[in-house]
Amino acid sequence: MTKIYMDHNATTPVHPNVLKAMLPFLETEYGNASSMHSFGRAAREAVEEARGKVAGLIGPCEPADIVFTSGGTESDNFAVKGAAHALKKKGKHIITSKIEHHAILSPCEFLEKEGYEITYTPVDEYGVVDPQALKNAVRDDTILISVMFANNETGTIQPVEEIAEIAHSKGILFHTDAVQAVGKVPINAEKMGIDLLSMSAHKIYGPKGIGAIYINKKAKITPFIQGGHHERNRRAGTENVPGIAGLGKACELAKSDLESESVRLTALRDRLWNGISANVKDVKLNGHPRKRLSNTLNVSFKYIEGESILLNLDLKGIAASSGSACTSGSLEPSHVLKAMGVDAAVSQGSVRFSLGRANTEKDIDIVVREIPPIIKKLRDMSPLYDSGTRG
Ligand SMILES: *Cc1c(COP(=O)(O)O)cnc(C)c1O
Repeated sequence: MTKIYMDHNATTPVHPNVLKAMLPFLETEYGNASSMHSFGRAAREAVEEARGKVAGLIGPCEPADIVFTSGGTESDNFAVKGAAHALKKKGKHIITSKIEHHAILSPCEFLEKEGYEITYTPVDEYGVVDPQALKNAVRDDTILISVMFANNETGTIQPVEEIAEIAHSKGILFHTDAVQAVGKVPINAEKMGIDLLSMSAHKIYGPKGIGAIYINKKAKITPFIQGGHHERNRRAGTENVPGIAGLGKACELAKSDLESESVRLTALRDRLWNGISANVKDVKLNGHPRKRLSNTLNVSFKYIEGESILLNLDLKGIAASSGSACTSGSLEPSHVLKAMGVDAAVSQGSVRFSLGRANTEKDIDIVVREIPPIIKKLRDMSPLYDSGTRG
């Protein structure tokens, strides 16, 4: 059975060239980047070369504004808590959105327990934050606005520049969780008015456990990992040199292929949706019809559960996901679809297909062929389907 992987928003395979870039630092070039000898200097050189490549993908911006972290979750925690702690004398109010990743929502809940106030702005039916609503939420004591660049479940892209402008007109810091957007849409952090930006290697064909945060020079945030003087005192700990080299290479590849992959994946994504909607009744596309990541298709199959669809797809060697990977396993409906006003029953039947480099037209056609009989089988067993359409 050929296996088809369509869960790239959960994680991606390491690109062979990324692996090749990492291997020397796991084998012969094992120096500590802080050491003065030749081993250390080789590691330092690799770290700084990678920093330049990361800055290139989200800019060009200043390489010195890039800090390596353990991934998207740490970058998000650093941004939210670091800004909150650095600016607490100015105020304790933060604005975010209802559709953020848990790496933002959980630190916000943590800060609420510390006495901060958080406003969670709503989104429309496509999952887009209304800049006007956000503007209305601004107060004198607002210190940070954090809105994701693109949503991991639906792929919907936010009006980031407009939001940044609102933030800056009021002297408020702006952070964006760009983990899903980096490498998929062109980003220029400086030009877009982004003060803080989170990214992760394993979503762009790099290794797991390494990421970065862009911190504009003008934005001062409080570090929360104390130790040595690494990363200009912003994030202590011996640098993960193989991981950093891998992230750098992943950024370089993402930049060179961004346009061609985006065109290719958009065509595949639309072929998948057209194939599904032509062959299955009662389906709904979740997310913005156009302002959406090229690789992401979130579909609700009414009257049945996403989990059962996934299990049946898995039996055919097809890997997709329901809701987000972090919430699957619990039968809670997705907080993202809920915020978009999707009915809980419809939300239960949602499946996310997230495409990537290895997917071909042939993969799409196989999935389009396999889905209808699975949906028919599950609907025939579903009491909801009986009462909903036949009863
Ligand atoms: C995956 C993801 C994260 C978490 O990144 P990790 O590197 O896995 O910790 C944060 N935000 C979004 C939008 C993501 O998709």
